[in-house]
Amino acid sequence: MKTDILIIGAGISGATLAERYASIGKKVVIVEKRDHIAGNCFDHYDQNGILVSKYGAHLFHTNEEEVWEYVNRFSDWYKWEHKVIARVDDKTVPIPVNITTVNTLFDVNIKTEEEMQTWLNENRVAFDPAKNGEEAVLNRVGEVLYEKMFKHYTKKQWDKYPDELHASVLERIPVRHNYDDRYFSDKYQALPKKGYTKIFEKMLDHPNITVMLSTDYFDVKDQISGYEKLFYTGPIDRFFEFKNKNLDKLEYRSINFVTEQVDQEYYQENSVVNYPGQEVDFTRIIEYKHFGNQQSDKTSIVKEYTVDDGEPYYPVPNEKNQAIYDQYKKEADKLEDVYFVGRLANYKYFNMDQAFKNALDLFKTLEPAKELAI
Ligand code: FAD
Repeated sequence: MKTDILIIGAGISGATLAERYASIGKKVVIVEKRDHIAGNCFDHYDQNGILVSKYGAHLFHTNEEEVWEYVNRFSDWYKWEHKVIARVDDKTVPIPVNITTVNTLFDVNIKTEEEMQTWLNENRVAFDPAKNGEEAVLNRVGEVLYEKMFKHYTKKQWDKYPDELHASVLERIPVRHNYDDRYFSDKYQALPKKGYTKIFEKMLDHPNITVMLSTDYFDVKDQISGYEKLFYTGPIDRFFEFKNKNLDKLEYRSINFVTEQVDQEYYQENSVVNYPGQEVDFTRIIEYKHFGNQQSDKTSIVKEYTVDDGEPYYPVPNEKNQAIYDQYKKEADKLEDVYFVGRLANYKYFNMDQAFKNALDLFKTLEPAKELAI
């Protein structure tokens, strides 16, 4: 088979590049190992008629005007300001930590931002600079919140305690000094009216684009030829493992999604309930029905267990993995007309908007004269 552009992976990165290249007249082939498009954003209707995501809840949020404009070409969106609550001991509190979280957990009566700042100052343990994730959290919120909200959740999420992770991993976690209980604070926070998969269907619906599903690139790579450029959006270590066995494998965390059907109208009061404590092994329970206030007599819930084996979802951010990645990156930079794009190929956690932005930016860099085709 011949093509101008070969893309491995039909997630955000692959679909964006495919759409862009098709729009300037290039023939594009996408090879996708799963039996569906949309990568980790894939969603579908379940047996109760509820739109559910196969790979965990996906909340779109961005401050990037260009990305917002781009995604609006493929779907109508409704405003959705995501909220998360957590069960801690026998209490329910908002996440990220805000005034209500502290008042509820510690039976205090903070009312203003200044009082919240004072409470944090009195509780925090100063580390400057923080050398690891534990010091980063202690530096911001102190021991009591660290113990209840961060320590065990981090262990469940990464199978590592915070002191085994980069400070940067936990430094980014927001702590609010007010009552704001929105999970994100970006300008645009929304969900696609008909779901994410429909967006990808529209992006890829072009006579220049051929999608080969259920096909692992490494099984067919010798059958596709003539292409000017190859965009690879899979795990970077997989790309090189056949060529250079001296490089180590990168560590990833995966998630075991366990769905339960519940014969009642609702199971919990919010779409996402986190469980930061040690009393259960799962990290959170998602009830998809809440997204967009979907109607059904029954509901289903998904418990998420973070595990080592399975589909690679999260790069594990520590120095060892960074050093291994740097070696792969060196190999990648030696290749001509091969581009490593997206979350797994860059070994970096990307939100959806970052994945769109990266792919759009790469296209603009490679095809500067064609940029206006959007
Ligand atoms: P992917 O979506 O992973 O696409 C890569 C594709 O390549 C996959 O379909 C894979 O099957 C395919 N592939 C890999 N290897 C091969 C091969 N050898 N041959 C053929 N195909 C191959 N972002 C947000 O903004 N908000 C959220 O709420 C959010 N929640 C998330 C929850 C979870 C559990 C996870 C894991 C991620 C979440 N994200 C969220 C991040 C979001 O999923 C990513 O930003 C996005 O999926 C990145 O797109 P991508 O194209 O880089 O990668």
